[in-house]
Amino acid sequence: MYTTLLPLMQCTVCGRELSVSSIRQASASGEIVEGEVTCATGHVWPIENSILVFTREDAPSDPWSKS
Ligand SMILES: [Zn+2]
Repeated sequence: MYTTLLPLMQCTVCGRELSVSSIRQASASGEIVEGEVTCATGHVWPIENSILVFTREDAPSDPWSKS
């Protein structure tokens, strides 16, 4: 994932802007392969295989279910 894309994305939980908080592996072209981004509220999202993953273990498994 390229950091130039971050301004186009927002936290899926709170909608605030995201910033890179950790880079564990980057490609020669500067793409983040493994790392983390954090929003202004503190939600942390992993970057895995160059993809920013917006999933949470505590998220409902069925987004359409009504509680
Ligand atoms: Zn957030």
